[in-house]
Amino acid sequence: MSPPYIYRWAGLLTVVGLLAGVTAVVLLDRGPSRTLAAGPVLDLPVSTAPAVVPLAPARPAIAPTLLSTTAGGGAEGKAVALTFDDGPDPAFTPRILDLLAAHRAHATFCMVGRAAQAHPDLVRRVVAEGHRLCNHTITHDAGIGMRTPDVMTRQLQISRDLLAQVSGDADVDYFRAPEGKWSPALVRSSAQDGMRALGWTVDPLDWTQPGADAIVARVQQRTHPGAVVLLHDGGGPRDQTVAAVEALLPWLADRGYSFVLPT
Ligand SMILES: [Zn+2]
Repeated sequence: MSPPYIYRWAGLLTVVGLLAGVTAVVLLDRGPSRTLAAGPVLDLPVSTAPAVVPLAPARPAIAPTLLSTTAGGGAEGKAVALTFDDGPDPAFTPRILDLLAAHRAHATFCMVGRAAQAHPDLVRRVVAEGHRLCNHTITHDAGIGMRTPDVMTRQLQISRDLLAQVSGDADVDYFRAPEGKWSPALVRSSAQDGMRALGWTVDPLDWTQPGADAIVARVQQRTHPGAVVLLHDGGGPRDQTVAAVEALLPWLADRGYSFVLPT
């Protein structure tokens, strides 16, 4: 007697189980349908998603090319852009700034983030005296051009934001790769982040300390209208550079050069 009862109960349970399963499937299936039914409301954020793009800070597009010469200048169009790397340095940057001020010359300072952080007063003085900031990474990382795009972009942004913060929100218009070790991706990334990739035309190798006279002679021989001159106000002893700049500023001014920011 008992087996048939067991089968009946088992059959009943099976039927109940199946019904429950079907009901669950139907409910689950209706869930998304209800969500979709509320489409007009839910569609709103989806359809407005592209509007996020215009909310990004508007920056003029920068050509992804390495800027190694400069335009501008006086009536004769003779312009030279002086650039100082690896500072700021409390021993040498103030002396360079004094010389530039005496000649009403403006220059670009490619600062190492770590040095900028250590000497915020010098960063602010550079900005206050009309010079421009150039991002030179936080640690003078010559390998930045070989990083993955994400890491490269993050490095560029972190060092730029650091300079902006230390300077009191000054613009950081340029980026210069440490040791001039560019990669096409680095030039592109720099431009995308609103910083012109800044190269140079004249490199007197002042950092090798060849003597102030040699630095002066090299700059005199190689400078032409539109030249971007690479010098260093930090990263080591720069007395020779300071002495060279003292001689070069009047020499260049006498020849009709005006001192411009790279454009
Ligand atoms: Zn450097």
